[in-house]
Amino acid sequence: MKALGLQREQRACTLTVARTWRACNVMVRPLALALAILLAAAALAAVTLVSPTGSVEIASRGDLYDLLAIFRQAGVETAFARAAGSYTARAGEHEVQFTPGGSLAVVDGRLVALPGPIRTVEGKVLASIETANALLRPFSWQLEAQGERLELLQVSGVEAIVLSQVQAAEGTLLVLRGCRQQPRVSWRGGELTLRFEGPVELAAPIEASGVVVGGGLVGHELTLRLTPGVEVAGSYHLEDPPRFVVRLSAATPAPLEARGEGPVVVLDPGHGGEDWGAAGPGGELEKNIVLGIARLTAAQLQARGVAVRLTREGDETVPLGERTALANRLRATLFLSIHANASPARSARGAETYFMSADATDIQAAQAAAEENASAPPDVVQLILWDLAQVSNLNESARLATTVQERLNTLHDTRDRGVKQAPFVVLTGATMPAALVEVGFLSNPEEAARLTDRRGQEAVAAALAEAVATFLQTRPSPTAPPP
Ligand SMILES: [Zn+2]
Repeated sequence: MKALGLQREQRACTLTVARTWRACNVMVRPLALALAILLAAAALAAVTLVSPTGSVEIASRGDLYDLLAIFRQAGVETAFARAAGSYTARAGEHEVQFTPGGSLAVVDGRLVALPGPIRTVEGKVLASIETANALLRPFSWQLEAQGERLELLQVSGVEAIVLSQVQAAEGTLLVLRGCRQQPRVSWRGGELTLRFEGPVELAAPIEASGVVVGGGLVGHELTLRLTPGVEVAGSYHLEDPPRFVVRLSAATPAPLEARGEGPVVVLDPGHGGEDWGAAGPGGELEKNIVLGIARLTAAQLQARGVAVRLTREGDETVPLGERTALANRLRATLFLSIHANASPARSARGAETYFMSADATDIQAAQAAAEENASAPPDVVQLILWDLAQVSNLNESARLATTVQERLNTLHDTRDRGVKQAPFVVLTGATMPAALVEVGFLSNPEEAARLTDRRGQEAVAAALAEAVATFLQTRPSPTAPPP
């Protein structure tokens, strides 16, 4: 289409009078050159994929390769669901769902963050070797670069895992070396369970050492009993060499003000430090606005006698996992992450509140989650703690989100965008009712002005404090002592 347009333009040039031709030619030549470079960059190349069944040429571009061709060569069927816009790859009892343009996948029913996005170029679905391997793993295949070619290898045999403990600044790391899989992690009553998709083997029996008291492997399930006072703070998978890491933190005693009988609220001003979050048309930064609102909300709640802690007191970088870890250590009653939104559509306005779910309610919810998750390194973006932590709190989280959204709706000029569910990383691992609120759109000049203004922030803070107080007053108290 572009080349055709150029031809037409050139012909128009040759038809012009001689006087203007020279000027026109001068214009067209660099244009043609730029266009040729552009087209060459966009074009797909071919690369040889060698597999046990033979070799084929597959499409590639840069370090991205034709994902569907790789699946075909691995003997794994893929089907496209037009309504969902996603592909399902299925073989045996394993199933993987992925969406072009996305960087999350559902692997055997579990939401995982991919090392890189899946792209569509000229009708081909392309992914990097690392991303392809994350999707191929449940089918026991692995893609490797061998010089100019790609090789598809059947992963045979059983993984032998070596367990070791590393002392890091923030706590102990349990490292499972040789582990290519991302097990499902659950943590109950001092017992850590890692459920693997495929067969695994222990290089040596589990011995009592460090924080590990004992444990063993039964089928696909590795159980580790840990010393009292230790808590699971997060987990992630790393490549080169492959290993799975479980981050532990010592359960530090809660500070005095949080020890009372009353509720403890943890407010999380989003972003901070290098991570600015969204920006408004006049350079207003989300990180500053949400810190202002969080401080004002805290003051209002403290005036009502509620103990409040902020995940950051100033303009500092706080990893997403640390934010809920703080709430867990304090045994907080609720966790509320405060953000401001941005949209390419400048007319977008209003507040929206989310609670954690593996399934995003709609495409906008998924995009909001993707943007807020951006500050977490992809290999740490593990959503696997979600089910253990949040399932039991799902109803209360939904109630918290609804209460917050209702209060924000009563604010002058705040349009209701509703309560939504989305896989926000910052909410994973929270062991209490948790929600994330986007108080308005910084991309909307009017809302940006209101959110930057002290009185505007006070109004939002009053609504948030009112919502939290209402939530606390109406919460069920199963542990209440008998009268
Ligand atoms: Zn944000």
